[in-house]
Amino acid sequence: MTHLPAKAARVLVTGGAGYIGSHCCKALSRAGMVPVVYDNLSRGHADAVRWGPLVKGDMRDGDRLAQVLKEERIDAVIHFAAFAYVGESVQEPQMYYDNNVGGMIALLGAMQREGVKTLVFSSSCATYGVPDRVPIDETMAQAPINPYGRSKLICEWMMEDAASAWGLNYAALRYFNAAGSDPEFELSERHDPETHLIPLALMAAQGTGAPLQVFGTDYPTPDGTCVRDYIHVSDLARAHVLALDALRGGAGPLKLNLGTGTGTSVQEILDAVERVTGHAVPHQNSPRRAGDPPELVANPGHAREVLGFEARWTNIDEIVGHAAPWFMEAPKVAQG
Ligand code: UDP
Repeated sequence: MTHLPAKAARVLVTGGAGYIGSHCCKALSRAGMVPVVYDNLSRGHADAVRWGPLVKGDMRDGDRLAQVLKEERIDAVIHFAAFAYVGESVQEPQMYYDNNVGGMIALLGAMQREGVKTLVFSSSCATYGVPDRVPIDETMAQAPINPYGRSKLICEWMMEDAASAWGLNYAALRYFNAAGSDPEFELSERHDPETHLIPLALMAAQGTGAPLQVFGTDYPTPDGTCVRDYIHVSDLARAHVLALDALRGGAGPLKLNLGTGTGTSVQEILDAVERVTGHAVPHQNSPRRAGDPPELVANPGHAREVLGFEARWTNIDEIVGHAAPWFMEAPKVAQG
């Protein structure tokens, strides 16, 4: 009897041209799956789509999504495409609800129509708001304090309702702070505009960016600056593959924190950038940024139990070290 090779799963990756999405496509491809990227390239980069086809489209275009699910013979979806800046969400709330919630409405409608019932969703620790205690576990109340976190929580509720109504099987992966870059240096962290701490600190240290503003030095934390749980983007990517495998194996719905369990303060990030680059980070103390809770650290135990997932890159210097080479270029000096 001849054995035909198992059909490679075809996975629609919305936002697959973005930072976490592109790393996830690489991980899917390594795991023998075919990532089909759906992205409008408003914040992603076409040259980051290297492990499967790129379909350009808007998240709110349900007909187009349904057409792609059908034509590309999609088995499952990983949904990254969303706006993801806390500060911007406070300034532009409607834009966040429109894109993040509107995108999920269109996606679920298309999936229901085409009978695609497996969805891994990029949710966020921002759905917890200001937690009563850290580390945060999945049983704790979700009470987001900014429009970004609220838009992600609404999407979680929508998936829960779709699960009851038509059998959607889903994983809500609540990321803590994605950081670093592909350890093989095939992919980088690029945001436009860049608002994230580690890239901005690296640019400040190299002299290619402005001095870093430290948002808040009077938080109730050991050194007064905010504490976050920085998880390597390649670890996050691997967790998506594990979550997809678990869903396809019959587990779900899943609600899982993805973090390392270790908190690092803004000041400790500046110290790490100095160790990695050999340059102190020029910085100035600034007021708190609206929407920022003092401390967000994951209890990673549930993801370990359910997926066998554990972060491999737990040393902050290594995480910063994988991001650093992308910010090493010489300062751009105006000519003439
Ligand atoms: N942060 C900062 N200065 C900056 C950017 C960020 O002090 O220029 C702080 C921010 O207040 C937060 C942490 O760094 O406590 C991580 O912020 P980031 O924007 O990287 O990620 P977020 O937590 O918003 O997802």
